[in-house]
Amino acid sequence: MKRSDIKLLQDEPACEHNKGNKSGCSRAKPGATAGGCTFDGAQISLLPIADVGHIVHGPIGCAGNTWNNRGTRALGKNLFRYGFTTDLNEQDVIMGRAEKRLLHAIKQLITEHQPPAVFVYMTCVPALEGNDIEAICALAQEKWGIPVIAVDAAGFYGNKNLGNRIAGSVMVDKVVGTAEPPEKPRMGHDPSRHVHDIVFIGEYNICGEFWHVSPLFEELGMRVLCCLAGDTQFHQIQTMHRADAAMVVCSRAQVNVARQLKEQWGVPWFEGSFYGIEDTSAALRSFAEIIGDPKLTEETEALIEREETKTRQLLEPYRKLLEGKKALLYSGGVKSWSVITALAELGIEVVATGTKKSTQSDKKRIMDIMGENALMLDEGGARQLLDTYYQYDADIFIAGGRNMYTAVKAKIPFLDVNQERHHPYAGYKGMIVFAQELCRTINSPIWKAIRSDAPWEAGEQPVDLTVTNAG
Ligand code: SF4
Repeated sequence: MKRSDIKLLQDEPACEHNKGNKSGCSRAKPGATAGGCTFDGAQISLLPIADVGHIVHGPIGCAGNTWNNRGTRALGKNLFRYGFTTDLNEQDVIMGRAEKRLLHAIKQLITEHQPPAVFVYMTCVPALEGNDIEAICALAQEKWGIPVIAVDAAGFYGNKNLGNRIAGSVMVDKVVGTAEPPEKPRMGHDPSRHVHDIVFIGEYNICGEFWHVSPLFEELGMRVLCCLAGDTQFHQIQTMHRADAAMVVCSRAQVNVARQLKEQWGVPWFEGSFYGIEDTSAALRSFAEIIGDPKLTEETEALIEREETKTRQLLEPYRKLLEGKKALLYSGGVKSWSVITALAELGIEVVATGTKKSTQSDKKRIMDIMGENALMLDEGGARQLLDTYYQYDADIFIAGGRNMYTAVKAKIPFLDVNQERHHPYAGYKGMIVFAQELCRTINSPIWKAIRSDAPWEAGEQPVDLTVTNAG
């Protein structure tokens, strides 16, 4: 990828960084890839596309253990669960046979799995070697007659966020608009009207959580054309341009996709979240508003009222257990504010929140919820997080999997809200799961047990383990 193309992607017009007197992303500092390199960002954005064959062109270390990556779920073909790689070694580099290996890998994948498309991810080694993956992909496409798409996002181009953008831009440039969706059917509950087509951007269906909200859209007569990239098939991405409205679920990741959909095909979009009762309701309302169908607005309000009442009733027993507790939240981007709203609904006070990956608008939202003096942590070193936890006498530490060991070593309750988690928290149903997990974590007897002295330290008599021979 040319330096000028990278620069363009870092200067995303729809991004918060371009508001005010700043322009574009700041230059990557040494160590910027510690939280994930550009390749990683591109791969995790697209890997959930379930029926595509994803090949990592590089040493095995880049692909790592990609089986069932991200805990994302999909129906139908699940080819994405495999980790395909060209597994380059020193000999391949010295002998200059990396490109040949790639062509063979594409052939093998197509022959053995017959995917509708193949994505090839560039990594540092072949990029430094000067491999022309665009040319190899074009050749493979011609030979085997299916789309073979190069995702040129070598790790050293920048950080993970840039990789997300590259992935989005590749989808818009090479996939979106290459097929038409099936004709719009009529609504099941009102055959006098046609369904409205909608798309989601930056929703990865972690633990199947998107399936908590998709039935609501179905009930309202909205057809999900594509969810980029959770529970998605290749042909769905091809039809995204025909959407009546788009929702950007994770703003930092792929806001460029939403902007390009608007510019090229006039698809209106908004940004929202499915964490918490209020945010879920707000997302449903925004769709109705943006589509501009008065009947849909009426039906949406009725559905919101029904779901909110039901959810609040189910939450009552958990709320009693959680009210007054304090949480330290360290999660990036949209979750830095959306999880605060969800916690507030349960009566939990957030003592501080992490904002390392948050935009200015994320920070503004945090201040709207927590007040002007909200404590925001831009850096999340283990010492600082623990100091904050103890200083504010928090009851639980809510963060991503990377911070799990900080919490485990400090013997404090910890709940994972990032992609490595095992529970679906989106939508009204997800709110109940979230409350259950909070209760289970805070009230687990394990904390008392591991914080107390071992029996022998507490002066108790050690258990006699001598084996006696009764015979
Ligand atoms: S692409 Fe480069 S930075 Fe990323 S994992 Fe591979 S070698 Fe490391």
